[in-house]
Amino acid sequence: MRILVTGGAGFIGSNYVHYLIENTDDTVVTLDALTYAGTKENLEAVIDHPRHEFVEGDIRDRTLVTELLEDIDAVVNFAAESHVDRSIQSSEPFVTTNVHGTQTLLDAAVEGNIERFLQISTDEVYGQVLDGTFNEDDPLDPRNPYAATKAGADLLALSYETTYDLPVLVTRSSNNYGPRQHPEKLIPKLVSRATAGQSLPIYGDGSNVREWTFVEDNCRAIHRVLQDGTPGEIYNIGSGVEIPNIEVARRVLDTVGASHDLIEFVEDRPGHDQRYALDIQKVSALGWEPQWSFDEGLERTIDHFV
Ligand code: NAD
Repeated sequence: MRILVTGGAGFIGSNYVHYLIENTDDTVVTLDALTYAGTKENLEAVIDHPRHEFVEGDIRDRTLVTELLEDIDAVVNFAAESHVDRSIQSSEPFVTTNVHGTQTLLDAAVEGNIERFLQISTDEVYGQVLDGTFNEDDPLDPRNPYAATKAGADLLALSYETTYDLPVLVTRSSNNYGPRQHPEKLIPKLVSRATAGQSLPIYGDGSNVREWTFVEDNCRAIHRVLQDGTPGEIYNIGSGVEIPNIEVARRVLDTVGASHDLIEFVEDRPGHDQRYALDIQKVSALGWEPQWSFDEGLERTIDHFV
């Protein structure tokens, strides 16, 4: 297959490009606008591989996208504005990239000869869950601008499956962590500050719970869905590893050998979701299961950043 990976110079996208080059015979075209969040350094080890091509460009550029899709079998759309705090400051780039950019790709895909279109989404589209877990049939209740634009993109993508018969699939994963994540995100920020002996800012009282999935597990799940998923279906991807943010900070401090006194509680994020948790039976039925424990994944992540 020739796979177009958008946003492949970012965190999860670059890990997925590595996964494809190292584990498949597929040819990969990476399309990335190299915003503040993307860097070619994330692709250093694979960028010149004979089965890899890098294109600097924007998913909102219809001419470019149409041209690229002439020779592509599958699209995996990671490209997005992805940081909730930034979406609270200004939602505009989130609407244009996450919604309009996805629409541009979908329109080009309808015209092209695309066998699979995988839209990468997030557990945040369901909103918070205080008890139990979300499954793929639960209603959407996004509670911040980032999540709302991702929900919009999901619905648009799924509508192209029913309206145009485009073979669209959607994955919704829980929080990822691992090598190459941008330093603005929780775990890289905690690691860099802990190793420098700086305070670790934690929103509110630190009780907000996230389900942490190691990025390599997510990449394997994404590829399984791309290969074996049913068009028109949504697949949650998670690990079952639920940890409050305060505990994540403590584990980082323990792993780097620093004092818990570095934890500093700061004013909470507006509309901060209390807990996310996913039911992953559907993706498990495709034969996938998470392999990384949180402690192993954290050690690998810390090794990468240190
Ligand atoms: P990231 O911010 O690290 O990477 C996003 C990449 O997209 C960057 O390389 C950036 O340059 C590129 N990009 C942004 N706008 C673009 C545009 N208009 N055209 C082309 N490229 C553009 O994000 P990430 O954490 O790797 O997330 C990737 C995807 O996974 C996103 O769709 C996100 O919503 C989803 N997701 C992330 C997580 C997580 O925990 N990180 C969890 C669930 C879902």
